[in-house]
Amino acid sequence: MQEDFIYTDERFADIQLLRYKVAGFDKLPLRQRTLIYYLSQAALEGRDILWDQNGRYNLRIRKMLELVFTHYQGNRESDNFKKFSVYLKRVWFSNGIHHHYSTDKLPATFSPDFLEEALQNIGNNVVEAETGATIEQLKAEIFPVLFNPQIMPKRVNQAEGADLIATSAANYYGSDVTQAEAEAFYAHQKSLASDPSRPVMYGMNSRLVKENGQLKERLWRSGELYGPAIDRIIFWLDKAKTVAENPKQAEVIDCLIQFYRSGDLRTFDKYTILWVNDTESFVDFTNGFTETYGDPLGLKASWEGFANFKDIVATARTETLAANAQWFEDNSPVDPLFKKQTTRGITAKVIIAAMLGGDLYPSSAIGINLPNSNWVRAEHGSKSVTIGNLTDAYNKAAHGNGFLDEFVIDADTLELINTYGDACDDLHTDLHECLGHGSGRMAEGVDPDALKAYGSCIEEARADLFALYYIADPKLVALGLTPDAKAYKSQYYTYLMNGLLTQLVRIEPGCNIEEAHMRNRALIAHWVLHHASSLAIPPVQLTTIQGKTFLKINDYEALRKLFAQLLSEVQRIKSEGDYEAAAQLVETYGINVNQELHNEILQRYKALNLAPYKGFINPEYIVEYDEKGNISDVQIKYGETFEHQMLRYSQQYATLPLIND
Ligand code: ZN
Repeated sequence: MQEDFIYTDERFADIQLLRYKVAGFDKLPLRQRTLIYYLSQAALEGRDILWDQNGRYNLRIRKMLELVFTHYQGNRESDNFKKFSVYLKRVWFSNGIHHHYSTDKLPATFSPDFLEEALQNIGNNVVEAETGATIEQLKAEIFPVLFNPQIMPKRVNQAEGADLIATSAANYYGSDVTQAEAEAFYAHQKSLASDPSRPVMYGMNSRLVKENGQLKERLWRSGELYGPAIDRIIFWLDKAKTVAENPKQAEVIDCLIQFYRSGDLRTFDKYTILWVNDTESFVDFTNGFTETYGDPLGLKASWEGFANFKDIVATARTETLAANAQWFEDNSPVDPLFKKQTTRGITAKVIIAAMLGGDLYPSSAIGINLPNSNWVRAEHGSKSVTIGNLTDAYNKAAHGNGFLDEFVIDADTLELINTYGDACDDLHTDLHECLGHGSGRMAEGVDPDALKAYGSCIEEARADLFALYYIADPKLVALGLTPDAKAYKSQYYTYLMNGLLTQLVRIEPGCNIEEAHMRNRALIAHWVLHHASSLAIPPVQLTTIQGKTFLKINDYEALRKLFAQLLSEVQRIKSEGDYEAAAQLVETYGINVNQELHNEILQRYKALNLAPYKGFINPEYIVEYDEKGNISDVQIKYGETFEHQMLRYSQQYATLPLIND
């Protein structure tokens, strides 16, 4: 049974939920599907750890809210119940009562009376059995946390002045531990290090508490704090080890298990080194205490889980480009003086997410660059990957949200973009990363930093222009990278539309363009627009229809010639280190914003009422067993709603006590 992929556009408050497609999963051999299944379970079992890290009362609050949500007998259409439901969804999304991004406490806009009455109707016995507290105790302990804005107002307070630990609701330090004490404690630990050039990640996997007046770390490990959840993670990792792809991967998993058992940070370093060196395995994962944004002191790492595998199609694409790198170099429109004699493309690593957990769920990064230990990175390197199917889900969502309908000039162009846009976006990125940055050479004796502050903008422009020039080349059709000879037009339209118009939505009113990538896009788009205007029939122009500004492309082939001309000039500037020319290009075309146009774009964008934050609903893996109890099949299933997934996770992965002191 292969269930069709279903998109979702579920929205509440400032959130939009998406699904991601685990493309190719059903084609994988059973052993790899089984490995992914085990790692996906390991990625979900730590959910409660993150909730408790995010705030001392989060698990009890979640239990209480879910109890009311599932048992409520009153009018589910009432104002209070609707507000209550949105609040619960926001808490689910944030893994606690503070906003996932701003870390401000989420406002509970339903009334305390409504909540109390709902609990009374459920009955004190049920409430106490489920939440471990009577209704009176909940009213005394939990209601103020929900309803009083003065209590736990922020999860992570970074504002200097106050004690950052006391003013942050995150549960990484005992309530009687001060910032000064914590800082002194870890400064002392560091001073005792046996090898100061290779420091462990001090404090990363513990809560710092006071016992009988003495500071003490309570480790997050089997048998100690969060032990029951960690034992569940170990259970699945043990199984994953039995179906590992190779001995090296089995060793990685085994070392992680050792770390979860001992809590020893030297073992953690050993594990990250093994992990970063395992580049051959098809299936990969992260699992454990990883990022430190949730701790105001930046020491304590929040728990996350992630199972993924290599995107074979995307990797084949970048391998094709890399294999033909010399052809692209030889045929580019730049001066032969500035071309490389021998060139090598880079194969980009694209992966497919199979399961997001902990701090990567529901809101997720779309790229990963780990490990975080500086000395491990310096001595052993890091893994840097983009998560292709999450980017894809964002792209798909952008098609249905009205954005393109508002800013694209006509139905034909819109259809072009809807047909080819996503494939050409990926290809543009590949050309930019795999070939563009690596192309060209410096003239002899030129300082590579000669362009100074304009250097990064010019470098991005060079890579983008290389991509823009080649995305229209018949060679790409011949290599099977673009479906046909007109696909590139979608990229030409969206690239210029972005550079001239829509990227302005990311600029505050009255401000100019600062960021190098944005400057580069403005530079290319405005240079092309300006040089088009002197031609008899301008290949591109801006036009006004019913008071709204649109990009109009009249001649795509002539436009390609302009890109070629600018590529040649930008390569010359880079190769010769021509600072004056770089400054002139960037200052003329890359920075300034037309205020009137900016206001128009901002207004049109605001009217679309798009959700500023997005997150993901996970797929489900359905497992079948044979008579001997071995896994005989693993299938993927989409279509679960956010609400169902949250309630299911709260049942299936409830691994911790509701209060973990
Ligand atoms: Zn770049």
